[in-house]
Amino acid sequence: MKRVHSDPSERIPWTKEVPVKQDCDVLVVGGGISGVCAACAAANEGASAILVEHFGVLGGNGTAGGVHGFCGETKGQGHVFDEIVAGLERFNAIAPHRPARSIHLGARRFDHEILALVLQEVCLRHGVVLMLHTRFIDAVRAGAAVSHALVAGKSGIEAIRARMFVDCTGEADVVQAIGCETMKGRPSDGMQLPMSLMFFTRLAGWGRSRRAVPRDFFPWRPFASRDDLPMTSFGRCGLFGRSVKVKVPSFDATSTESLTSAEVQGRRKAMQVLEYYQRAWHKPWELDHVASIIGIREGRRVVGEYVLTVDDVRAGREFDDAVAVGSYPLDAHDPGDDKRTYILPKDQLGVPGYHIPLRSLIPRGTANLLVAGRNLSADQLAMSSARVMATCAMMGTAAGITASMCIKKGLTPTELATAEPAAVREAMAAGGAIFDLAFYTPAQCKKKE
Ligand SMILES: Cc1cc2nc3c(=O)[nH]c(=O)nc-3n(C[C@H](O)[C@H](O)[C@H](O)COP(=O)(O)OP(=O)(O)OC[C@H]3O[C@@H](n4cnc5c(N)ncnc54)[C@H](O)[C@@H]3O)c2cc1C
Repeated sequence: MKRVHSDPSERIPWTKEVPVKQDCDVLVVGGGISGVCAACAAANEGASAILVEHFGVLGGNGTAGGVHGFCGETKGQGHVFDEIVAGLERFNAIAPHRPARSIHLGARRFDHEILALVLQEVCLRHGVVLMLHTRFIDAVRAGAAVSHALVAGKSGIEAIRARMFVDCTGEADVVQAIGCETMKGRPSDGMQLPMSLMFFTRLAGWGRSRRAVPRDFFPWRPFASRDDLPMTSFGRCGLFGRSVKVKVPSFDATSTESLTSAEVQGRRKAMQVLEYYQRAWHKPWELDHVASIIGIREGRRVVGEYVLTVDDVRAGREFDDAVAVGSYPLDAHDPGDDKRTYILPKDQLGVPGYHIPLRSLIPRGTANLLVAGRNLSADQLAMSSARVMATCAMMGTAAGITASMCIKKGLTPTELATAEPAAVREAMAAGGAIFDLAFYTPAQCKKKE
């Protein structure tokens, strides 16, 4: 194969004046579920809010990534998430609520195409300014504060000035850009939780599939038996459709080269799985579509004012500055192989409800920057639980309220967490958020008195 030239030590100087096209109170970077909730919550508190999203659609993993079920408790996660769920319900596009503590593992299914519509409408209803097809590329720092974000879209590179920034990129791109500390992967070798690619099938008619995957098109050997398959999970999608999730381990979501390989290998593996089911199980399935992006479980995590640990999670720890609640089991798929393997034995995955403190949303050493979502400040195992969408939504809402509150009070997030640790929680509770851990804790995880 021809190699492209690469000399990572080569450097070129690059300086350019860019227009400051936007000025706002709160700039949220990353329009996944956490970013949407952050932007809407900030706007709801009266802040002018801009939401910058790299793709042409909001929702991140939950839409472009094809993940179509909310894990975690879907009641009491704050008013923005309530609005999102209500929007899905208006379309009859979400399964009925069941308390997370009763189903523990499992998701509340929704239609991810409808979610994309609902998210944009909820943002617009709150007056959030959307910038789609816009990628955050760098930030300008003034001491401990961020002054501007540099973004690139079809109009070119431009700067956005904001008083508060919220990084919901999943890979902590903003935090990384200003040189604050981040971490990734497991402590032993830095390997991140594995990615998975979602694809969707439709009914092709009974008997032989009409659109069979050609066995000699791809450079792989067809699977001989079920033992060869990677971890593959099935869901229902529409009347006869299936969603299929295929584990794609050992790639790095923070490396362009590795992420590219993950997408390519993921698509091949998806076709390998489909070919197997068409041939060996005579499934009348054909490819409907593959999710636009591979699902990323873990990118970078920030090192925050507090690092939430798996011990906190297991102990169902409460914090004075709690702003979100997690309760989903430790969903730490083994990063190193493609089978249904976990870092811990399965009987050690369950957790009680636990608090996420505001300090875990504040990157250490910053004055006007917050994070929310899967890039929170947590160790890998704690994050494996807190990364589910309902919990990301609650963190996002908390970050948006915090950003707006800091502007009104003239405090940094750290000062707010110290001086008024309950302020954000109280504001969230007034909007319907539930912080009572008993509401979340499954019977089998209740503390023994
Ligand atoms: C395969 C898989 C299955 C899962 N299953 C479930 C499930 O069943 N239920 C559940 O609740 N959770 C599930 N999860 C977890 C959950 O989907 C994610 O952890 C959650 O959606 C993360 O939300 P987020 O907002 O933090 O990040 P993301 O959804 O990753 O959103 C980040 C957004 O930021 C944007 N972005 C990134 N960088 C930039 C940049 N530089 N500039 C501009 N925009 C940027 C991205 O385009 C993206 O839209 C699953 C995850 C995976 C990968």
